[in-house]
Amino acid sequence: MANQFERFIKRKNYLIFVDSDGCAMDTMERKHTLCFGPSLVAEWELEHRRDMILSRWNEINLYSTTRGINRFEGLAMILREISESGYEIPGLDDLLQWISSGKVLNNRTLQVEIDKTDSICLKKALYWSKEVNRQVALLQKEDRHPFEHVQHALARAHRYADVAVISNAPLEIVLEEWDMYGLLEHTDIVLAEDCGSKEYCIGQLLEMGYPCDHVLLCGDAYDDLCAAERNGVFFYPMLARHENECWIEFACDGLEHLRSGTYAGAYQQEKIELFLNSLSK
Ligand SMILES: [Mg+2]
Repeated sequence: MANQFERFIKRKNYLIFVDSDGCAMDTMERKHTLCFGPSLVAEWELEHRRDMILSRWNEINLYSTTRGINRFEGLAMILREISESGYEIPGLDDLLQWISSGKVLNNRTLQVEIDKTDSICLKKALYWSKEVNRQVALLQKEDRHPFEHVQHALARAHRYADVAVISNAPLEIVLEEWDMYGLLEHTDIVLAEDCGSKEYCIGQLLEMGYPCDHVLLCGDAYDDLCAAERNGVFFYPMLARHENECWIEFACDGLEHLRSGTYAGAYQQEKIELFLNSLSK
């Protein structure tokens, strides 16, 4: 986990974190509607309430304050709701316990938990997660592309800022998608789910000596805002369904405010208010 941080070299005086899914990459809708949701229905044999479950999955992961949540947290949330509605989910408590353990939540740590508990629910969660990865890898290249203007904005940002990709997704998927469209050349480090939470990752790079008012996180999820605020750095939101306009503004006004020291105050407040209003409560 620490290797990425140890290899990182601070080159510039500014640092910009960029979230991947739903922020730089226009992938959220397709991944959730084509891969995550349908695989959940199949793995837990929920065909009889398919439409309701897919709709609720999309609400949790795309259109509410839990947008961008870790996949296993999203899974636990919906399985708990399904269980409370009277449909038994065997071993659910094992999943809920693991989720609340504070551990890094990914396939590797889940396998460790399965080895300890032999829980049916954890095994199904891992099978589902691997199946999602398999299906995401099968998506066509045109279904996994960045939003317009991302490349231009990153190139501009990279002239005076170190750029860090920050994501809850598996490293291999993030690398593949950013490489596919030549975005990696505008980045200095890729921090994926194996590096720990976004809040932790931001804190680690801050220790390299960037002043907090020279650091900004671009994100599309409420959790991104929280990770930025807990570290005392700025937040620039990518609003769902308005990403292209957001990237255009970021490349001009956003970067200019950061560089000229006017990001704090009215501009930051306006961005946060717009963002919170865009997420249903
Ligand atoms: Mg995101």
